[in-house]
Amino acid sequence: MNKFDVIIIGSGLGGLVSGVILSKEGYNVCVIEKQQHIGGCIQHFTRDNCIFDVGGHYIGGLEKGQNLRAFFNYLGIFDKLNLRKLDVDCFDKIMFPDGENYNFAMGFENHKEKLLEKFPNENKAISEYLSKIRETCDRFPLYNLKKTDNPLIESIMQNDGFDEVLNGLTNNQKLKSVLAGTNSLYAGTKTKTPFYINALIMNSYIESSWRLVDGSSQMAFLLKNQIESNGGKVLTDHEAEGFNFKDNCINSVNIRDKEQLFADNFISNIHPTLTLKMIPEDKVRRAYRKRINNLDNTIGMFTVYGIFEENSFPYINYNSYIFRDSNVWTADTYSLGNYPEHCMMITPANSKSDKYADSFILMTYMDFSEFSKWTHTNIENRGNDYKDFKEQKAQQLIDLTEKYYPGLKSKIKKYYTSTPLTYRDYTGTIEGSLYGITRDYNDLVRSVIFPKTHIPNLFMTGQNVNLHGVLGVTIGSILTCSELIGLHPLINKIIVANNL
Ligand SMILES: Cc1cc2nc3c(=O)[nH]c(=O)nc-3n(C[C@H](O)[C@H](O)[C@H](O)COP(=O)(O)OP(=O)(O)OC[C@H]3O[C@@H](n4cnc5c(N)ncnc54)[C@H](O)[C@@H]3O)c2cc1C
Repeated sequence: MNKFDVIIIGSGLGGLVSGVILSKEGYNVCVIEKQQHIGGCIQHFTRDNCIFDVGGHYIGGLEKGQNLRAFFNYLGIFDKLNLRKLDVDCFDKIMFPDGENYNFAMGFENHKEKLLEKFPNENKAISEYLSKIRETCDRFPLYNLKKTDNPLIESIMQNDGFDEVLNGLTNNQKLKSVLAGTNSLYAGTKTKTPFYINALIMNSYIESSWRLVDGSSQMAFLLKNQIESNGGKVLTDHEAEGFNFKDNCINSVNIRDKEQLFADNFISNIHPTLTLKMIPEDKVRRAYRKRINNLDNTIGMFTVYGIFEENSFPYINYNSYIFRDSNVWTADTYSLGNYPEHCMMITPANSKSDKYADSFILMTYMDFSEFSKWTHTNIENRGNDYKDFKEQKAQQLIDLTEKYYPGLKSKIKKYYTSTPLTYRDYTGTIEGSLYGITRDYNDLVRSVIFPKTHIPNLFMTGQNVNLHGVLGVTIGSILTCSELIGLHPLINKIIVANNL
């Protein structure tokens, strides 16, 4: 019989980090992944010798003494990562059609100075915004590697709206747009996004911002190596289909076309709605099922993955956030006549050159309702009208970018595209949602997913627990694993691993 201490369903970042933590602690762990490739949103694919990330384009907090570095040190992967630091004076550039560009710089003082150069009369608002970021982050103990008994409750208490906070700081519309200019990092919604989400993410990037050279999937491979060297297993082409119960606990999981696998504990790294689908009706309270199934998910992305003619376009060591007009909050509720309203442009870091970019990525929102006639189709089999649709959208996105980077179009050798349908089918997210469940400051309690479920030996992890993103998911995995090994001992080990 195939029996493990813990089976983890899904090899996304959350599943792999949980696998490392538990295997380090002596648990016999097995991570199962339905795809041929591990990593979920941090997998990559290659076209014409160019490496493209699916997600995880840049990460923060990796300088000595910063939080993600401490977690990665403990996980045994930090010193093996191939990283490129983004420009200290401009890791993100917010670009508007009036020709004005705004640079986000690393280091809080530097960040403030760069903003003040553009908004000399807004010292008070900018200072207060940055202080508020730090105060908010201080209130999240795990973010700062501090011990706590109620890690998730603290996030629920942070219920100011981001837009409300901005309105309280200044009447300067342009400054507000600039400060919210990276809101696609969290699929920000004017009436819903809590301030703490902006704070935790921007704090991390302001501290330090990095690209992963030759792809974010290096994180997944390094984590897999750690699991295997601790005696655990990572099995691809293993799709979990349903749980079997003995009394009130799960004792095995059915795998498509394969033998079932048994374990004492199960961690689900997939969307909570999909997890619930694997559980018989009578094993979960109807009210809980209803709450989870009715939660909104963040919007998906349309992406162009482009390849440049050789040595034709410079490598740009920052991310460009391009807007069609100065309202940064309407990109997710776009009208078709005005599509796309925004674009995030990245030239991925590769080991071939830091002078020229071999490729580029353009991303903008796309609503799943645009796909109603293709929802029942499979990858590579969606028909010519789908190809035409993608081609039209790709041209619109490239045209918008060309206005900000004149000449880019003429340097493109080839491009590929993906839609929320692609994400749905490759990473298993509901409707190709970017970051999973939407956090709404008007009712935060409703959207909080606890790692512990009503089934005693089933736990959740991944971007729907705690926060999305590489840092958020890593912290979420610590929370999940703490249900088995205790939070205080786990934090102690992270502190010891970092000589803190
Ligand atoms: C376009 C995009 C850009 C992003 N950019 C950044 C960024 O720049 N910086 C950053 O920090 N974060 C970024 N993120 C967010 C970050 O990548 C994600 O939050 C994080 O990787 C999600 O990890 P996860 O553990 O929740 O699992 P996921 O990545 O969702 O993985 C879940 C895994 O489970 C597998 N699975 C699903 N169903 C089953 C089943 N039945 N049986 C077995 N396996 C199954 C899936 O195939 C998948 O591999 C981005 C995300 C996207 C989509």
